[in-house]
Amino acid sequence: MGGSVRDQTTPALAVPIRQRMRELLRAQPPHRFCTACLSGLLDTSEASARMAMVTLEAEPGTTRGYGTCSRCGKDRIVVGAVVPA
Ligand SMILES: [Zn+2]
Repeated sequence: MGGSVRDQTTPALAVPIRQRMRELLRAQPPHRFCTACLSGLLDTSEASARMAMVTLEAEPGTTRGYGTCSRCGKDRIVVGAVVPA
């Protein structure tokens, strides 16, 4: 618990962004966001948001595909949480 162990394969900034993105998506299951909107919502660059998205989509419970962004309303690649049927 001394904080001496770090994941050196992950850029330092990517971790909090990924966690915040996960919380954002899980908090709003019906919504899906595009990278541009996620970067705005998370106050980060679009490149960082895209990198976090790639990591998140590999996790169970997260879906990514072509759809309508809940924020900007554009049809593009969006990411969101999988809503249980
Ligand atoms: Zn959008």
